[in-house]
Amino acid sequence: MKEKRSANFNPGPAALPLEVLRAAQAELLDYQETGMSILESSHRGKEFEAVNDQAMALVREVLGLGNDFHVLFLGGGASTQFALVPVNFIGDGQVAAYVDTGEFAAKALKECQIVAKAHIAFSSKEEKYRRVPKISEIKYPENIAYLHICSNNTIEGTQFWEFPDTGNIPLVADMSSDVASRQLDFKKFSLIYAGAQKNLGPAGVTLVIIRDDFLVKAKKGLATMFSYRTHVENKSLYNTPPVFGIYIMKLVLEWIKRQGGLAGVEKMNQAKKSLLYGAIDAAPDFYKGTAEKDCRSWMNVTMRLPTEDLENRFIAEAAKEGLLGIKGHRSVGGIRFSIYNAVLLEDVQRAADFMAKFRKSA
Ligand SMILES: *Cc1c(COP(=O)(O)O)cnc(C)c1O
Repeated sequence: MKEKRSANFNPGPAALPLEVLRAAQAELLDYQETGMSILESSHRGKEFEAVNDQAMALVREVLGLGNDFHVLFLGGGASTQFALVPVNFIGDGQVAAYVDTGEFAAKALKECQIVAKAHIAFSSKEEKYRRVPKISEIKYPENIAYLHICSNNTIEGTQFWEFPDTGNIPLVADMSSDVASRQLDFKKFSLIYAGAQKNLGPAGVTLVIIRDDFLVKAKKGLATMFSYRTHVENKSLYNTPPVFGIYIMKLVLEWIKRQGGLAGVEKMNQAKKSLLYGAIDAAPDFYKGTAEKDCRSWMNVTMRLPTEDLENRFIAEAAKEGLLGIKGHRSVGGIRFSIYNAVLLEDVQRAADFMAKFRKSA
């Protein structure tokens, strides 16, 4: 059976590889001859334990991490990590520094301010978050607990292309919308977190990676579920983890390996973003990219049209052609194409063709 598959540009939950969905479908009712679904299996059983172990090993392999990194699969979304990071890592009287480059970065900052003092190391808020900082613009005092950045600003369509060298200061990153989308030295981060629903799997599971030399600094005596130590010590199995999300993430990571790992997906993502930014730059008076050029995101391509009326027509006509999920975030308006790993090049080509056609007809 060939089902109808739309060109899915949703910002998250987002497109998953068809191969992954088919694999999950094929073994949904009877997982590896157990006579039950993995959805119905105990998280303490050997089948799920194998899934959990394989998913952890695949994260290490795909991201190129050594054994000094702990890999966690937690519930609560990236938004819970906004709170857990300061709760675990800011000591009494200590300050953490935050780079404010978008709505999610600002939400992370706000959670820090509930429990501790935050230093704003840079903010592009006054510039409508059109850019991320140059490294030299990031300023923070000595002895901060960590520096927090958001590597890809999902709503505003900007992305970091160079990262600060913080020396002894731990670097923490929210990589929810660009983890595993490009080659990167992930080892330079002390902690990375990412909700799975953009590049790694379904909503409900959040990947957290913590380097051991940072974990040892985590506070003790916290509420059990709020302590990263608990989850490290129990391989994310202290309580019932989001089993189905972890299983799908394992399938997605295997799919990434089949694409040639991060080098392979990066190449594909580069081709995809070039099509859309090419369409914008071919008609800069009509399609106004909202991110500064050297900060453009390869994952979320954001633009405004000359009027809101035209934007609404663009969205409606695109939908008629099966191009879905492109309305900009309610806080910024406009158009946003989210082109995460699983979005097909041919669908992005159709989007670029549609942009050229729409401009001529408008
Ligand atoms: C989507 C997103 C979040 C929020 O993730 P939840 O899983 O909904 O909590 C946080 N940060 C970034 C960068 C995101 O793209």
